[in-house]
Amino acid sequence: MKEYAGKEIFNGIAIGKLKFYAKEQKQIIRKKIEDSHQEYARYEAAKAEAASQLEVLHQKALKQVGEAGAEIFQVHSMMLEDEDYNDSVKNIIDTQQVNAEYAVAVTGDNFSQIFASMDNEYFQARSADVKDVSERLISVLTGNGEKKESIDEPVIILADDLAPSETVQMDKSNLLAFVTRQGSVNSHTAILARTMGIPALVGIQIEEAWDGEIGIVDGYTGKFIVSPSEDVLAEYRAKKTKDDEYKELLTTLRGKETITKTGQKVNLYANIGNVSDLVTVLKNDAAGIGLFRSEFLYLDSEDFPTEEEQFKIYRQVAETMAGKKVIIRTLDIGADKQADYFQLEKEANPALGYRAIRICLTQTDIFKTQLRALYRASAYGNIAIMYPMITSVEEVRKIKEISKAVREELQEIGVPIGKVEEGIMIETPAAAIISDLLAKEVDFFSIGTNDLTQYTLAIDRQNSKLDVFYNPHHEAILRLIQLVIDNAHKAGIWAGICGELGADTTLTETFLKMGVDELSVSPACVLPIRKIIREASLTKKRKKGIIKE
Ligand code: PEP
Ligand code: MG
Repeated sequence: MKEYAGKEIFNGIAIGKLKFYAKEQKQIIRKKIEDSHQEYARYEAAKAEAASQLEVLHQKALKQVGEAGAEIFQVHSMMLEDEDYNDSVKNIIDTQQVNAEYAVAVTGDNFSQIFASMDNEYFQARSADVKDVSERLISVLTGNGEKKESIDEPVIILADDLAPSETVQMDKSNLLAFVTRQGSVNSHTAILARTMGIPALVGIQIEEAWDGEIGIVDGYTGKFIVSPSEDVLAEYRAKKTKDDEYKELLTTLRGKETITKTGQKVNLYANIGNVSDLVTVLKNDAAGIGLFRSEFLYLDSEDFPTEEEQFKIYRQVAETMAGKKVIIRTLDIGADKQADYFQLEKEANPALGYRAIRICLTQTDIFKTQLRALYRASAYGNIAIMYPMITSVEEVRKIKEISKAVREELQEIGVPIGKVEEGIMIETPAAAIISDLLAKEVDFFSIGTNDLTQYTLAIDRQNSKLDVFYNPHHEAILRLIQLVIDNAHKAGIWAGICGELGADTTLTETFLKMGVDELSVSPACVLPIRKIIREASLTKKRKKGIIKE
């Protein structure tokens, strides 16, 4: 038995026969040609054929993995039209008077090396896409047709790397897992594996000699085991049974509406801290993102993240969620979330101190940079913006002034901006108590029960000694939640809960009775809550008052 550690791409356990997937090595021969015009026309014809192959793959992937997963084949089609790429091929054919296959091979190598050498992980991952597109063109030009791996029994595929087109063409019914030596967690093959729900690991130094042996892929821990002992095999069989049961729950609830038996609908969204959390959001079929804690971008950085860095991330989230709502909370730094470069002074009571919107409203350059990135990204999906730690109407009006100025600046230079809902977090008692007034200023409320509990009960949420007193079920909290929901509805706006209490299944029915419109919870909690909501049959919504019954 041998054990290896890799990077997990998608959760799940697979046990089965290992199959080594060897890429066909195509020998490209450099040939002199007579007529470069004719050779370039041959290249153009190959491009057209490659484009139609990609369209077929796109349609196939749409059916198998949906829009987000299928998008890569549109990206490949766009690469075929890339001006720099085509100029390079033409230049090589013209100046060297050589065949199109050779020109494509050289161009493909050059471009993929350029991508691979970039600092940014996203662009590094595009290197494999350039190679894939180039190989496709070469196959068409040489008349070799497309490589299709036939898998006629259930196997765990081992490969150096897998191109997205290879991945999507494999017979899913026999595909237990992927294990690759190369490939990043951001590669499209990884994205496809996740979307297909296939356990996958990257970064394992695979050996061809393992072909035919039994292997175990633990997509939860990144562990890969070759030739397991009987004990380990039995242990993993048991884990797999549990995992299958869990997945069964997922599959029955995925794609289903979050609605009670009596027809009360709830928007069930997920909370995320960074882009990599999107994997579990998709897996758990959240209807949107109800809280993207953007401060994690700042906490992960050595310095203030630039507008461009932020824009790319917000755009990626918006695009991945493909039109579903993505509520991004502006910077909520301070208190327990400290980044040195902010140079925040030590405070006696940091939770009551200089944090979140208070920083944004006093250091407006930081705030404006984030808002510019957010509005720019809004053109790529369904972005909503939410402001934390609000205590007064004046703060909201000030925010609106600043955000309006930012939008106008962008519009003046012709930057497209999507339709952006703007809401606030209700996480201070002050905000809850004046929620009737605040409701007139914004598009939605999202109740942050973590801080709302801390401030209402005067209990430091960071102090573990006080855990026994930290009671979010306290009557005061429940009354405030009811008040906020009622005030939202009176003003015709919606109200949700994005604090941890939203995932407390003992309160799900209570929240339904209160008339909550949205619950945003950690991705793994989405389906269990959907289950409760779908099983609830509340006859009438509680309009007012105390919730304990
Ligand atoms: C909250 O306070 O409930 C909340 C969602 O925000 P955070 O936990 O990030 O403070
Ligand atoms: Mg909070």
